[in-house]
Amino acid sequence: MKPALVCAILLFMPVRSAAPLHTRRQASASRLTENPQVRAALDWFGRNPSWINDTQARLTEIPAPPYQEEARAAAMKELLTEDGLPTNIDKIGNVVGELRGANENEIVLLSAHLDTVFPAGTNVKVHRSGGRMMAPGISDNGTGIAALVAIARAMQSAHVKPERTILFAGNVGEEGEGNLRGMRELVDTYRKGLKAVVVLDGSGTDYVTTKALASRRLEATVTGPGGHSWSDFGMPNPINALVRGAVRFINTKVPVSPRTTFNIGQIEGGTSVNSVPYEAKIKVDIRSENEEELGRLESALRESIAAGVRDEMDPPRDRSRGALEWKVELLGSRPGGELSPDSPLLAALRAADEFIGNQSRIERSSTDANIPLSMGIDAISIGAGGTGGGAHSLQEWYDPEGRETGLKRALLTVLGIAGVAEEKAR
Ligand SMILES: [Zn+2]
Repeated sequence: MKPALVCAILLFMPVRSAAPLHTRRQASASRLTENPQVRAALDWFGRNPSWINDTQARLTEIPAPPYQEEARAAAMKELLTEDGLPTNIDKIGNVVGELRGANENEIVLLSAHLDTVFPAGTNVKVHRSGGRMMAPGISDNGTGIAALVAIARAMQSAHVKPERTILFAGNVGEEGEGNLRGMRELVDTYRKGLKAVVVLDGSGTDYVTTKALASRRLEATVTGPGGHSWSDFGMPNPINALVRGAVRFINTKVPVSPRTTFNIGQIEGGTSVNSVPYEAKIKVDIRSENEEELGRLESALRESIAAGVRDEMDPPRDRSRGALEWKVELLGSRPGGELSPDSPLLAALRAADEFIGNQSRIERSSTDANIPLSMGIDAISIGAGGTGGGAHSLQEWYDPEGRETGLKRALLTVLGIAGVAEEKAR
């Protein structure tokens, strides 16, 4: 073997560091926290718990039903602007504050969704009892948006200068039929420089979502001529057909692994008890760890509804007086994807966990992180600390006890991946 070749082989041999992985992680998190600005930012959380709680209550009390997030976005813009961040609201309603990094071409996005599942008119007044706060949306995502503002404020008041630009985004359209449109827009806008996305959603510090659960939302509609319950008896009935089809659909076998689920979440139709309805609809949510199973389940829904319509048109009664039509439409689709186990983003999260003495498990879930993950951009979704429960119900609650851990975890993760700019020698 020629000496030059040996050299080349040695050069390209993977280098193994002598230090075990966790030691290296610890080293990177403690290097970060050796920086006085970063330490000051971490300390800010412990000094301002009531400001954070009050901000959470204030933002939660501004209604933000799907497609009506404007008022909450405006309040958030004001808060981020107060922090001294240049902030704008984009064309679909996302509010974005920018903490410019030394390297402006590379971006880390920290986001929290603004929208709730609750329709306009829902009472969102926050009640406090003991340490707890209660209101629809208080945890999902009052916790996330309060954390976003708090992290921005902590970094600004401590004069943290990141290496990569950090964007603080309160985004629209995460829940239900919002179909992740806010995150789609953000990824679209910043795609070129986007290195990582950290999504803050709800409470907790015990998990990290690195796997995006693929899901689809479908609406099945059956229509017919409609008529009078007595004089038009025999007229094919869209509700009957839909019920027949739905019964077939819910008998569909789904695998335990890959885990695959379905839910008929809404049903509507008809105008009065003594009318043959002219329309009936169901909304169905299907999810799977595997995209193929999702396709299979969507086909099963179409076949079931078609069969339900056929069943309804069959004898025993004369159906010559009208026919039924049906359709199944896709309301939304969330693509799947996974973060690589050796991604720098996951390493940053693990380093933050070790530094604060936290343990967290990997989860698969359907979140705003689905969009970047499906496009090969590193992303995670995490809770913003404290504990909460009753998400998507009127009994939703949040307890800020231990919130500081979640805020530190998020801040260290974001700075772990964004980096802190080297101070110029003076
Ligand atoms: Zn949420």
